[in-house]
Amino acid sequence: MHQLIIGDRRLKGAGTISVTEPATGRPMAEVAAAGSEDLDQAVAAAKAAFPEWSGRTAVARAEVLFRFSSLVREHVEELALLEARNVGKPIGDARWEANHVADTLRYYAGAADKFFGETVQVGKPGLDITLRQAMGVVGLIVPWNFPMVIATWKLGPALATGNTVVLKPASLTPLSALRLGELGLEAGLPPGVLNVVPGPGARIGQQMSAHPDVAKIAFTGETETGRRIMATAAATIKRVSLELGGKSPNIIFADVDVEEAARHACASVFANAGQDCCARARVIVERSLYPRLVEAMAAVTTAMKVGDPLKETTEMGPVISAAQRDSTERYIALARQEGARYVCGGERPDGDGFFLRPSIFADAKPGMRIVDEEIFGPMVVVIPFDTEAEAVSIANDSIYGLSGSLWTNDLKRALRVARAVRTGVLSVNSSSSVHLQAPFGGFKQSGLGRELGMHALEHYTEIKNVYFETN
Ligand code: NDP
Repeated sequence: MHQLIIGDRRLKGAGTISVTEPATGRPMAEVAAAGSEDLDQAVAAAKAAFPEWSGRTAVARAEVLFRFSSLVREHVEELALLEARNVGKPIGDARWEANHVADTLRYYAGAADKFFGETVQVGKPGLDITLRQAMGVVGLIVPWNFPMVIATWKLGPALATGNTVVLKPASLTPLSALRLGELGLEAGLPPGVLNVVPGPGARIGQQMSAHPDVAKIAFTGETETGRRIMATAAATIKRVSLELGGKSPNIIFADVDVEEAARHACASVFANAGQDCCARARVIVERSLYPRLVEAMAAVTTAMKVGDPLKETTEMGPVISAAQRDSTERYIALARQEGARYVCGGERPDGDGFFLRPSIFADAKPGMRIVDEEIFGPMVVVIPFDTEAEAVSIANDSIYGLSGSLWTNDLKRALRVARAVRTGVLSVNSSSSVHLQAPFGGFKQSGLGRELGMHALEHYTEIKNVYFETN
């Protein structure tokens, strides 16, 4: 049984989580589930560790984080295998993610002593300075789709700026977070600086959001859960940063290479089996290119290698759970009812595990639930447009605003549309959303605050103004 990490102790918790391997549908591990007292103990351990950790120089904290990064790098294969088995993601992707975790820790180790306050010209003689100070105990609540990547996007800036942490992984995928907790201790994080407490979100996550000794919650997950956390956090005016859902647009103008655009359109929604908040799940295509693009996307999708995540050539593994597959299948049925045109995919391959072939529905329209709602599975809708203004209007017709892409060779149009699309992240002639050094986060109901880059550090510190009278 994998136990909780609280301070330097391993605890049995108050219950058990049985972890399933999505590729087989069979149990993979038993993990301790924290109860209410365990959570209190984790917060107390983090609170006790705060004065010493936040009191260290940034350079001293960075040394530990550099060691943490190196240890993760030494364990890339082990972490990748754990994540590939627990989440069902292709091993090559999992390996990239494990390396990205090491890169993220290294980036924030390097950032620790490059983030500081300022000297302010105030209207009185004297000296006015601002300090950036750690908040205290930070609760990290993370989802199952990129478990260790998203945990580290929060851990890096939180620890670099001197906070102490209680990390609650998703109940479906607690294994890599626990392993990260062990590696953190081995790297020299003082006990209590990083506590890892798997447990049911509705109770443990909720308790964390209400806890008077938790200064901030950093959350990634569903918009509805984010709303609940924000409401709970209001009672103690807790700081919150939220990375929530998305239904990202992929606008394709007719002047691009159709094969390249189709390849990216498929990859950017079917990676991680569509379970990606940045998935470009609405492909919005200029009408003159539309039939050829749909046909090219169908060819790419039909050829996709779906299967065993541990095989190096696999392009898409299973979805995370039977429930997630059922939910995607309900959207596939709904697509037909709503009048979208079935193009390809959506079948369950024979055998065990939660596999579902990627599917495409064309002739979709805003107002259809398959267009407006986040599906979080391997399904994409394609929508035609006639004018640039219409493309922008369709792209912005969403409660979400996380990410998106825009494909055109017309520079002026690219600049106009990039400015007009209401998302926190946008890539032009590219399907990448994440750059470690650049801010990542959403407009509208896709979230609050930014992760990654130097901007993330602002969300883990309070700014204090200090004035020195010199007369
Ligand atoms: P959930 O919101 O259900 O869960 C996320 C985390 O929150 C889990 O650890 C969960 O615990 C916990 N949780 C659940 N209920 C509560 C609560 N009441 N209070 C506090 N914590 C709670 O999301 P999923 O795990 O289902 O992840 C999928 C969703 O996440 C998608 O909608 C997706 O768009 C979004 N997402 C957004 C990203 C972004 O960066 N914007 C990135 C990745 C995903 P438990 O597992 O025990 O239920």
